[in-house]
Amino acid sequence: MSSGRSSGSSGAGTGVPGGVVNGGVVNGGVVNGGVSFWYADDGLPERREPLSGDATADVVIVGGGYTGLWTAYYLKKAAPFLRITVLEQKFCGYGASGRNGGWLYNGVAGRDRYAKLHGHDAAVRLQRAMNDTVDEVVRIAEAEGIDAGIHKGGVLEVACTPAQLARLKTFHETELSYGEKDRELYGARETAERIRVADAVGASWTPHGARVHPVKLVKGLAAAVEALGVTLHESTPVTEIRPKHAVTPYGTVRAPYVLRCTEGFTAALKGARRTWLPMNSSMIVTEPLTEAQWRTVGWAGREALGDMAHAYMYAQRTADDRIALGGRGVPYRFGSRTDNDGRTQSETITELYDILVRFFPSLTGVRVDHAWSGVLGVPRDWCATVTLDRSTGLGWAGGYVGSGVATANLAARTLRDLVQQDSGQAGATDLTSLPWAGHRVRKWEPEPLRWLGVHGLYAAYRAADHRERTMPGAESSRLARLADRVTGRH
Ligand SMILES: Cc1cc2nc3c(=O)[nH]c(=O)nc-3n(C[C@H](O)[C@H](O)[C@H](O)COP(=O)(O)OP(=O)(O)OC[C@H]3O[C@@H](n4cnc5c(N)ncnc54)[C@H](O)[C@@H]3O)c2cc1C
Repeated sequence: MSSGRSSGSSGAGTGVPGGVVNGGVVNGGVVNGGVSFWYADDGLPERREPLSGDATADVVIVGGGYTGLWTAYYLKKAAPFLRITVLEQKFCGYGASGRNGGWLYNGVAGRDRYAKLHGHDAAVRLQRAMNDTVDEVVRIAEAEGIDAGIHKGGVLEVACTPAQLARLKTFHETELSYGEKDRELYGARETAERIRVADAVGASWTPHGARVHPVKLVKGLAAAVEALGVTLHESTPVTEIRPKHAVTPYGTVRAPYVLRCTEGFTAALKGARRTWLPMNSSMIVTEPLTEAQWRTVGWAGREALGDMAHAYMYAQRTADDRIALGGRGVPYRFGSRTDNDGRTQSETITELYDILVRFFPSLTGVRVDHAWSGVLGVPRDWCATVTLDRSTGLGWAGGYVGSGVATANLAARTLRDLVQQDSGQAGATDLTSLPWAGHRVRKWEPEPLRWLGVHGLYAAYRAADHRERTMPGAESSRLARLADRVTGRH
């Protein structure tokens, strides 16, 4: 991970110290891809044995990210006699669960739409369940001895322009209306007491958030699941899911319940190309900052940090005192293509670096040690869902957009309850009646409309953000609102 502060800039084009080109370890020591910094930090795992021939189970789970692993965990805890098999194409945590920004927080994609569809109270129940989920993950990590670098400092979202401040106030009021009575609104001075983001004019803080080391969490969870007696097969891609069957090149696993937990990779499954759009998110991480640098930044509370830009950023102060910062980058690849082990375009790295030094000008020149990307799943209506089709035994959970670290846990407990209800082991629960259970939505449009729609959305966001930054007094952009409507986001 180490590298000297380098003057050469071979790929990024602007001022990212060290320079970055695509293709692994590069000049100045900046690592690009390699799945994620979190794996560079904690080590890539030894792979578990692949499937070796046909098999049977009571429940087969496709995908070994947070959703699949939490589902296996809660099902096995509830019914230890169940034979549960998890099939993972690479290794557990290969996807977004091993690459994310480590915001374990109470956001859930689609809540406002669920309020419109099912009423405000139903959405309040979903929100309360999400608030509790943050504590549930912290509790289970502790109970299972998973040291995931968890620090519960809440989430701080800052506004840096008048238009962002207007959105922040609306956002804050909306969150209060969903029962978040413990959320606080700060002016510029109070914000600066927590963190010195240049130009910050206000912030909204919620206690319902924690910083985690994503890979330590997913590795610990996989180990806990295995210790419970769940069978995990890695290096085992599922090529087709159909009722009672998960088909792989090495054999088929037959089970009454087949649960799809493949999030941003779902499009690669037969018949699912237009189900959830694989959206990219990209991150950089700095070298560890010195105490003197931290004095210029503040951030003693180690809150998860975000902003109110249309193309928003997210960041955490890591356990070893780096800044890990993410944003959208290249939003989507034509034809729902997904991934290249996290390899990230140099323009995206430059863009993220520019955000970093715009937020913290005193860090100009700070070294970037690693850059990576991952995919998240976006349904056509941008609403996360948990569904079990009782006629086929096929289930799925996901479509979390960018908010899946905590949501996957709530989704997994909901899937557990739906399976238990369907198999007669339990009745309906508070979770099975949450408004996202059983929600269905139409597919995305064929190409090139998908590509045009998503790239148009982010072009509109960037233009709106630029306008808001450069024209003091600019109102929240109409263009961004229109783009939201066209792409189904709001
Ligand atoms: C860069 C980035 C930053 C993010 N930051 C945050 C954040 O800070 N906070 C937050 O709440 N959310 C964040 N997210 C989103 C969050 O990480 C995800 O929503 C969450 O991890 C989803 O978990 P999952 O298990 O559903 O999906 P994944 O973690 O993607 O797991 C799916 C698994 O299924 C496997 N798989 C896929 N297809 C097949 C197949 N056909 N056969 C077998 N296995 C298969 C994959 O290899 C993968 O391991 C971020 C996402 C990214 C990419």
